[in-house]
Amino acid sequence: MSDQSPFLPTPTLPGERERELTAFRHLYVHIPFCKHKCGYCDFNAYAGMDRLMPDYVDALERELIFARERHPFQQLETVYLGGGTPSLLPAPLASRLLHFIRANFNVAPDAEVTLEANPASTDESKVAAWLEGGVNRLSLGVQGFDRRALAVLAGPTPRRPPTRSALRETWAWRTSAST
Ligand code: SF4
Repeated sequence: MSDQSPFLPTPTLPGERERELTAFRHLYVHIPFCKHKCGYCDFNAYAGMDRLMPDYVDALERELIFARERHPFQQLETVYLGGGTPSLLPAPLASRLLHFIRANFNVAPDAEVTLEANPASTDESKVAAWLEGGVNRLSLGVQGFDRRALAVLAGPTPRRPPTRSALRETWAWRTSAST
């Protein structure tokens, strides 16, 4: 029989306790690519750099290993791919990154895994890759549906504002890919 009261917490050494309290339970991964740099945007985001995506994902993987080796991580409750516009990553690169995270971190089976997406850079193959890589939450971002308002908010741009039907299409892909 144990000589410990079941009502007392298991004693931990000070270092262990500190590690337990400070261990990360959430992982944010930044994808800084955008089609257009909006006039009001202060985020770390760049347009016209898409050619660097493969090198950037290589560097991210090295950085994630670096972080994992130097900082304590608990089982991850959330993973968030934000930007920038993460939906700009080609499906194979997004898939590779999502699988890398799962292979190198202890992601909880019920973790919330989010990817920020713009409907204009979302297609069926990307949605399928995200779902297969464990994404279970899309954060859809649009600046506006009105071309004049968009011109004021985002600055001169050749882009057309996203349409509501593009949003509906994205949702339909998500639904069809998960069934
Ligand atoms: S799309 Fe978003 S992250 Fe990219 S430049 Fe515009 S506001 Fe910034």
